[in-house]
Amino acid sequence: AKARGRNRYCFYAPDMAERALERMTIEQGLRRALERQHFEVHYQPVVALDDRRVIGFEALVRWRHPERGLIGPDRFIPVAEECGLIEPIGRWVLRTACEQGAKWLAEGHAPSQIAVNVSVRQFGAEDFVYTVRSVLAETGFPAAQLELEITESVLQEIEHSQHVIEALKTLGIRIAIDDFGTGFSSLSLLKHLPIDRLKIDRSFVRDLPHDANDAAITRAIIGLSHTLELEMTAEGIETEAQLEFLRELGCQCGQGYLFARPALATALFVDGQSKGLN
Ligand code: C2E
Ligand code: CA
Ligand code: CA
Ligand code: CA
Repeated sequence: AKARGRNRYCFYAPDMAERALERMTIEQGLRRALERQHFEVHYQPVVALDDRRVIGFEALVRWRHPERGLIGPDRFIPVAEECGLIEPIGRWVLRTACEQGAKWLAEGHAPSQIAVNVSVRQFGAEDFVYTVRSVLAETGFPAAQLELEITESVLQEIEHSQHVIEALKTLGIRIAIDDFGTGFSSLSLLKHLPIDRLKIDRSFVRDLPHDANDAAITRAIIGLSHTLELEMTAEGIETEAQLEFLRELGCQCGQGYLFARPALATALFVDGQSKGLN
């Protein structure tokens, strides 16, 4: 009887108000952070699982808050998506990553394939392909070395997505499906879309190799990627046992704390020496 009518509303109200306030605070903070350039891009190496050589980097955004320190994307990307700030933030991340990639190339650091996350809202924006094309032109970063990571939810708007993916492919950009296995996907879609890579979500990797369900799911996804001739990256590899299991199943690439945490570009190359880079 406690949770009825007005009482129920009262019960939830303080929490809702608090959350609305927090969201407003984050939104205002994000606007200020954009103006003052308080964002940073960190780069996490992607390695080939057979010999651990670095084949590229994933760009991951962070918010350097003057008082609260470094804030992770899970805390602010959802708000940025809701209020539309994801478009300018995403554009800034893309430009920064491509500038960095062009700089690495100029300094003679190979490899420099760079992956950038693209949110549903960015992908759905009318000028998305135009934005990507102009960032590539302005930074001089080669399209063939850029990989865009989209989630399965993007594929729900299939007609629009197909059109955008094809336009990006025409530019020479590679497409990866991120967090694969956690969202909606139609396997036939995968077959018909020009996708280059599947990224198996960290939630399936975490309890490998002992969790039988996760082992079966991982095996199935890797099998699927072989059948469809897609490249495959496993996220969140933290142990040698996970690495061994994934490698034996034929997963080519991986990312995780076992190899390297995301870091500022300046921390990746020390004294012109790369940390495991060519
Ligand atoms: P994601 O794309 O799935 O990125 C992988 C996340 O796993 C990153 O968290 C990375 O730091 C973390 N990670 C990597 N290896 C390990 C590991 O071995 N163990 C553990 N526990 N975690 C690991 P991060 O940087 O906090 O990013 C979280 C999510 O925020 C990303 O998930 C992505 O969905 C989103 N995100 C990050 N940067 C951007 C961006 O520029 N644009 C958009 N739209 N989303 C972004
Ligand atoms: Ca990603
Ligand atoms: Ca993930
Ligand atoms: Ca994600």
